[in-house]
Amino acid sequence: MPPSEAPIAESMTLWPKIDFKNRFKDLVKKQQKSAEFFRKRTWFGILVAVDIGGGFWHRAGIGSVLIPHPPLINWLLRLGLKKEDEQRLSIIHEFGHLQTLPLFLLYLIVYASLMVHFGGHSLLQWAAGGISLFAFWEIISELYTVYNSGSLYKLYYANVPSFPRVLFWTAMTIILGAGWMAL
Ligand SMILES: [Zn+2]
Repeated sequence: MPPSEAPIAESMTLWPKIDFKNRFKDLVKKQQKSAEFFRKRTWFGILVAVDIGGGFWHRAGIGSVLIPHPPLINWLLRLGLKKEDEQRLSIIHEFGHLQTLPLFLLYLIVYASLMVHFGGHSLLQWAAGGISLFAFWEIISELYTVYNSGSLYKLYYANVPSFPRVLFWTAMTIILGAGWMAL
């Protein structure tokens, strides 16, 4: 072998051999066992997945297309809870976003139609409208979480200060109301 080829050959042996197929299998196994990942079919028949175990970001989506988003609302709502209760409720909340997607889309269509016909068209009004849509989605997803956890919801929060939840419901109601004022 000519000396000039030696470094290339050497670097090739140093190249890490990654067994992608088995890594993927391990990942799926880990996720299936994990309390931070779950896959379920929505009431309208679509297979969705929620992953809250990937570091800072939460991910939720359809099939294998998961959209990362900051877990701000879950962080606020779950302040003071035990880790496993926080995870359980966060997962239900994320799944709630997917379960309520048709209701959210219906609301979006109605709201956008009203905005076009009766609303003003300033940037501020559209911005208020857009943010209020997300407040609506957060509200119905948390209502879904409350409904789905039943009496456990109250139990989880028994000894937890209510301030973060009061802040959430107050802020979301004001933002939702601001959206209707913008019409
Ligand atoms: Zn949310």
